[in-house]
Amino acid sequence: MERTDVLVIGGGIVGLAFAASLKSSGLIVTVIDRGSKPQRTSSVPKKRKNWTLDSHIHPRISALSISAWQFLNGVGESLTGTPYTRMEVLDGEGTGKLSFCAEQLALEQLGYIVENDKLSIELINNIKKSKNVFFYWDTEIKELEKLEDGYVVKTDKNVICTKLLVGADGSQSKVRKLANLNYCKWTYNQKGIVAVVETELQHGRTARQWFTSRGTLAFLPLSDKNLCSIVLSTSDYDEIMLMDDESIAKLLENLSEGVLGKIFGIDYRLVFPISQQHSVRYVEKNLVLIGDAAHTIHPLAGQGANIGLADAKQLSQSIKQACLKGIPIGCLEVLNQYQSSRRPDSLSTAALMEVFARGFSSSNPAIQWLRNEGLNKVESSGFFKKVIVKLATLR
Ligand SMILES: Cc1cc2nc3c(=O)[nH]c(=O)nc-3n(C[C@H](O)[C@H](O)[C@H](O)COP(=O)(O)OP(=O)(O)OC[C@H]3O[C@@H](n4cnc5c(N)ncnc54)[C@H](O)[C@@H]3O)c2cc1C
Repeated sequence: MERTDVLVIGGGIVGLAFAASLKSSGLIVTVIDRGSKPQRTSSVPKKRKNWTLDSHIHPRISALSISAWQFLNGVGESLTGTPYTRMEVLDGEGTGKLSFCAEQLALEQLGYIVENDKLSIELINNIKKSKNVFFYWDTEIKELEKLEDGYVVKTDKNVICTKLLVGADGSQSKVRKLANLNYCKWTYNQKGIVAVVETELQHGRTARQWFTSRGTLAFLPLSDKNLCSIVLSTSDYDEIMLMDDESIAKLLENLSEGVLGKIFGIDYRLVFPISQQHSVRYVEKNLVLIGDAAHTIHPLAGQGANIGLADAKQLSQSIKQACLKGIPIGCLEVLNQYQSSRRPDSLSTAALMEVFARGFSSSNPAIQWLRNEGLNKVESSGFFKKVIVKLATLR
């Protein structure tokens, strides 16, 4: 049987960032993921034929806050991200608008847009330089056995004994299930469609979001000045996924009110279920959940990875402090400190997303009027604008 100090189940962005944060801790860390090792895609220039775009960019993109970006750069070197400097939130059914830019906040940028697969590869390459972190790809967790001071984990390939088991295995977490940790779940009858589009006008490093009758539409600026990543959270996902490239490009052009001119082309689409869920507890003795395994947030304000990275940072700090004090890393005192520091933040973000998701999807004219007025009031109120801006940028 193999032995490790920390066993991380899940090598997504959050699990990898957490493993990277422990690379100089002296602890032996093992990461297991049921997926294959992410592969570098060659950087081929974009091509377009009629409405069909071949951007060579994977459509899973995340907008990261400055603090998430700083954390990642503290645990890894030479990470690639596109800074964005302005944010606009528009009500596509009216005249409501809220906007702010980095300059107004005396910042150089509001955050960074990252390609999830590229970031994973860069984190893995960073971690590979250390001698205390090990990976098992194409390996799935099957069973847990609780010991006095740790867990024995059976996978489809091996058996590993660990002092601390970290569930970073996403919204369908098997660790959470096997440990019988209860969770609450809300569904929205919506799915998120993601794709890369080419626009006539340059994005100007602005992240834009429209609340429309067909759902919430985000345009995130990529490193190419005429490419954006789109996320459309909609209940019309079946109909829209069946549309051809020209029809969907025209739909996006309408929903974005032509702000970026014509949509010249669209790359392949992926669709993701949308829900919010929250684990009642994130910790047990010798076991802890981080990222989407602990809480899954509606993607409309792009906060899921940001909150997950804040979990990784806090857990890593709590573990390193425990090591310095000679306290066992799996003891409840250490893990409860992590839970009490992270739970209020993720719960309040989930509550805010609930209000946004329900309020902005309503076609009731009274609610439409209220949200138009609301966006304009926030725009003109120094205090509320500061609160919203802080939420959006400095988590
Ligand atoms: C459409 C959309 C857009 C989004 N946009 C943003 C954004 O702009 N900004 C933002 O901050 N967030 C965004 N999010 C949320 C963000 O993508 C997630 O919060 C984040 O990716 C969660 O990372 P994670 O590492 O916790 O989980 P995941 O990315 O789900 O990774 C879990 C890993 O665990 C592995 N795994 C699962 N089960 C097992 C098992 N049984 N055994 C072994 N391995 C297993 C999986 O293979 C996977 O690699 C968006 C989400 C969606 C759906």
